[in-house]
Amino acid sequence: KILEEEEEEGELVERPPVVTVMGHVDHGKTTLLDTIRKTDVAAREKGGITQHIGAYKIKLPNGKEITFLDTPGHEAFTTLRARGSKVADIAVLVVAADDGVKPQTVEAINHAKNAGVPIIVAINKIDKPGADPERVKRELSQYGLIPEEWGGDTIMVPVSAKTGQNVEELLENILLVAEILDLKANPNKPAVGTVIESKLDPKKGAVATILIENGTLHQGDYFVAGYTWGKVRAMFDERGNQLKEAGPGTPVEILGFNEVPQAGDKFIVKKTEREARQLAELRKRKREEELLAKKAR
Ligand code: GDP
Repeated sequence: KILEEEEEEGELVERPPVVTVMGHVDHGKTTLLDTIRKTDVAAREKGGITQHIGAYKIKLPNGKEITFLDTPGHEAFTTLRARGSKVADIAVLVVAADDGVKPQTVEAINHAKNAGVPIIVAINKIDKPGADPERVKRELSQYGLIPEEWGGDTIMVPVSAKTGQNVEELLENILLVAEILDLKANPNKPAVGTVIESKLDPKKGAVATILIENGTLHQGDYFVAGYTWGKVRAMFDERGNQLKEAGPGTPVEILGFNEVPQAGDKFIVKKTEREARQLAELRKRKREEELLAKKAR
């Protein structure tokens, strides 16, 4: 066992942090995610029209990458958490400087704390005349988030999602925390990931966005996800570009599921079609038996 771990150590490489943006309604989560998306230096080269697939990865001018979950509201976090999956490495808590801490702010703090996910605060809307960042800091302190400048350990960055002011600083701080977390993965293994979103497309059939957490996914790979299975017929990034492979930290939309999987399902590559199908069918049978047993009681 130890030998195996040592052997693997050499193959581990840095992977992008996965970030979830949380906060009270109207405090600027969507605006911030849109502004960040526009900072992607690779966007121009890659082209294509951005589509919502539930997550996206950006590349910063220094070459570093960050993956953002962009499922609206707390959905990504709560449904994924409820199903026992911890996907995000870092939570960005957006608090509007003209509104302060609100019920959903507190909820978000609790979610992140329960999941053991470090919080970076984006004090947003500092361009507004009524903005009072100091008040936000005082209010957050009452919930245990003490700003670094007051001797605490919570990074708080005043930003304007609308004008883009300080958004770069926010991204730099995300990378700083990611460095401390020392996030690693082995790209030389069969892929493992989590279903972020799924749907039944009238033309394409069952499609799902998978966040690859470890290993590399290749076109043609067989996989199982919850009670579903399939073969990667095609995969796309959030710009609709087709990919032949996807490494750790990459979100991809995949075609080739036999049925629609559920958000939060673990996605695991199997060597053969037979293995993938049998495992999915076994899980489905077990589930049906459990449901029958429950009914009988
Ligand atoms: P969400 O509900 O948290 O996703 O909030 P939105 O991103 O939809 O923002 C709510 C409103 O606040 C919208 O009208 C935005 O244009 C506005 N808004 C968001 N960020 C800023 C900001 O930094 N400055 C100003 N002045 N308005 C902002």
